[in-house]
This record gives sequence, structure tokens and C-alpha cells, in this order.
Amino acid sequence: MSVLDQFRLNGKVAVVTGGNRGIGKAIAVALAEAGASVAIASRDEARNGEAVAELTGLGATAISTKTDVTSRADIVAMRDQVTAQLGPIDILVNNAGIGIHGESLTIDDDSWDRVMATNLDAVWKVSQVVGESMVERGTGSIVNVGSMSGMIINRPQWHAPYGVSKAGVHHLTRSLAAEWAPKSVRVNAIAPGYTKTEISDIDLPEYKHYWIDEVPMQRYAQASEIAPAALYLASPASSFVTGEILVIDGGYTLW
Ligand code: NDP
Repeated sequence: MSVLDQFRLNGKVAVVTGGNRGIGKAIAVALAEAGASVAIASRDEARNGEAVAELTGLGATAISTKTDVTSRADIVAMRDQVTAQLGPIDILVNNAGIGIHGESLTIDDDSWDRVMATNLDAVWKVSQVVGESMVERGTGSIVNVGSMSGMIINRPQWHAPYGVSKAGVHHLTRSLAAEWAPKSVRVNAIAPGYTKTEISDIDLPEYKHYWIDEVPMQRYAQASEIAPAALYLASPASSFVTGEILVIDGGYTLW
């Protein structure tokens, strides 16, 4: 197989949670361009539909499945719908996530719980539900979207629950990778740095010094610069890679 063929995903079925915008949509586009059939699993049906139209416009097979990743019932229904419409899931991208900023003494239990439910508990639940059939079939690749915030403390904003949730995603990645490696199910993560999407306050002037000037490359990422790393980890190009947390941060975590 030529080296570029190792990035091909023809005949593969992929699910991207939170695939209707931002980093998730960029990953969905990358997987579709590589030949995968792609299911967009997020809550906003109108935006899911727009993402599916974009993928089908590229000539890909794509469906949407209205999914709240915090609900195990939704996740099971998603897996069953995707399997019925596209076939067994080969690639799972756990991308859905939310963020909140705030000083730790002001963050209430509900906010902590929401961040953990979406960013960490859901990665656990979706990996369990989809991973079960991957382990049974003896094949699969899971790519979790962590964050450099799981490795460092960001400035100037505080967001302890977010960072803790992403550190948990990284360790869950390594745990599942070790457990499922003998079954040929690989589990890896990407850890993006500052990336321009709806979730990030990238253009706030008071953040510029910390979020742009202090990045060795002195800029933020576009989502399209994050997606190729997810394609690498999803595809046979990374066939001997598991439990890896691939940092994509313009050098931010070097300091
Ligand atoms: P966006 O806010 O642009 O997109 C978030 C996506 O998650 C949306 O598609 C949203 O869809 C989905 N989502 C949120 N909650 C749920 C839920 N309960 N069930 C299903 N889907 C949900 O964010 P980004 O693209 O920036 O973030 C994507 C991932 O990348 C997140 O995990 C984030 O933490 C991570 N990340 C982002 C960075 C950045 O700088 N932007 C840096 C490092 C990591 P819907 O609302 O329709 O459900």
C-alpha cells in the first residue's frame, strides 16, 4: 500500500459527535474526503442537516442522527441508526464539548456537572456503547478530542472544570487504549490549542497577549488545521499508534 493510500477510508463508517460545526465539522469533512461514510451526531437538527449537505456536496455518503451525547439512550439509538443505515461503525470521533469560564469559588455544582457530563462522561458512554461492537468485531479506531487545557493551566481566564474534564479525556484515552489493544481497537486523542470556532473567545482583545502573542507561532489555528491529525489517527496510517495524545498547539505547551 502506498503511503497516501494508508490515509484512505473507503468503505469505512465514521461517527463524529458534535460534527455539525467547528472542529467536529472539519474532521467530518476530512474523513469524508478520505472516503468514509460519515454520521453527524449532535443535537441541533438544522445544523446537522447543513453539515450533511456539505458532505454530500463533496460526493460523500453522510447522514445525521440527532444525539445528545449526555444521554445513554440517545447514544444507543445513534449507534443502532448508524449501523442500520451505513453499517457497523469503524471510526468514532468523540468531539462534542462545551466550555465555561469562571473563578473556581463562583462555579456552581450545576456548571461543573454540565461540563463533566458533556466533555468526559459522554466520551466514556459513547466509547462504551460504540466500543462494544468494535471489540466484538476486532477492529476500530476511536479519536477523542482532548485539549492542551488538559495539560496546562490556561491564562488569563480560569476554567478548572474544563481543564479537569480534558485531562480526564486524556487518561481515559490511555486506559481504553491499553484495554482494547489486544482486540485491535485503537484509542487515541488530539489535544488542540487555541482554534477559531464558536466555543472560543479567540478575538477578545484582553486575551490576545496570552492566546496569540505567547503562542510560539503567534497565531491561532483554523479548524481545518486540526482535522488532518484526526484523519491520521483514524486511518491505517497510524496502525501501530494507540494511547497517544497528539498535541496541535502551534508550540504553546513548549514554554
Ligand atoms: P463548537 O462550540 O464550535 O462545537 C461544539 C460541538 O459540540 C457542536 O457541534 C455541538 O452541537 C456539539 N455538542 C455540544 N454539546 C453536545 C451534546 N450534549 N450532545 C451532542 N453534541 C453536543 O466547539 P469547537 O469546535 O471549538 O470544539 C469541539 C471540541 O474541540 C470540543 O471538545 C472542545 O472542547 C475541543 N477543543 C476546542 C478548542 C478551541 O480552541 N476551539 C481547543 C481545544 C479543544 P449541538 O449544540 O448541535 O449539539
